Amino acid sequence: MKLDEFPRHPLTFGPSPLQHLNRLTQHLGGAEIWAKREDVSSGLAYGGNKVRKLEYIVPDVLASGADTLVSIGGYQSNHTRQVAAVAAHLGLKARLVQEKWVPWDDPVNDRVGNILLSRMMGADSRLDDSGFDIGIRDSWKAALQEVEDAGGTPYPIPAGASEHPLGGLGFANWAFEVAEQERQLGVFFDTIVVCTVTGSTHAGMIAGFAALEELTGAKRRVLGIDASATLDKTRDQVARIARNTAELIELGRDVRDDEIQVLGGWAGDLYGIPVASTMEAMALGAQLEAMITDPVYEGKSLAGLIDLVASRDIPADSTVLYAHLGGQPAINAYHRLWE
Ligand code: PLP
Repeated sequence: MKLDEFPRHPLTFGPSPLQHLNRLTQHLGGAEIWAKREDVSSGLAYGGNKVRKLEYIVPDVLASGADTLVSIGGYQSNHTRQVAAVAAHLGLKARLVQEKWVPWDDPVNDRVGNILLSRMMGADSRLDDSGFDIGIRDSWKAALQEVEDAGGTPYPIPAGASEHPLGGLGFANWAFEVAEQERQLGVFFDTIVVCTVTGSTHAGMIAGFAALEELTGAKRRVLGIDASATLDKTRDQVARIARNTAELIELGRDVRDDEIQVLGGWAGDLYGIPVASTMEAMALGAQLEAMITDPVYEGKSLAGLIDLVASRDIPADSTVLYAHLGGQPAINAYHRLWE
């Protein structure tokens, strides 16, 4: 099926806004920097990248007759908060497994920010001691079984909605949205910078921009910034999901290896723990643009963008688009960083 033939259930206000980051551009003195803001594009509990992915999954949820969305993430998972939001919006229940993905022992880590919002929206959110893993987990399978045993009909949504067969479609469509906005604004983004962890945001973009390249011949770099310090695993996952998504939307050719670029260097040693470059990037974004980023994801990808622009790896005559994927509610659990 072609991308525009897949059913899509609207959960956003429409195309996410583009913003020229004028002061950050001036500060770095190189490429023109813009942001595309997934963090302000939906009215569902502060939105974020999962809302866009879920637009393509919800039709399958509704067709399945399920009454409970079952998903998994860390204590401060943005993904599970967005699943809770979509469940509330659709009048469904949500059962969430919140694992201890981050060794961040702030006493409010499992009570404020994302998890607070999920609980406020009525989700059954339960803590589990397991550590970080983007794979399929026993705790999640157990939650699915529990819902069934209680007479419910669960709908499984894996971590980050990435292992879901339709998980890459939202950001494949993002590429076409960018092309339309470029046409309206008279700009061309030769480089895209995006945070990657469970992979389907970056992978969807790769498939979408490959499809655009087939139509227009326009080539660009879609640079994923690893934020979990598991570079090989992330690269494999991005490549696999990009290829599956490309097949799903009938790209008509294989995704080339040079289209899959996951860069390391800004994750530090651990998922969820910021390093000096994360803190500097968060401060620059906030103080030059009042653009708030989080220490888990967007602070790390912004650090990557800043270094690549400053070092001229992204050349000075480039126009670069930073995909802001949301994530701000987690900063409440990281208040210590700014005290
Ligand atoms: N940025 C934010 C704010 C997120 O919540 C996530 C979710 O994992 C990501 C980036 C990474 O996206 P993905 O998991 O699709 O790689």
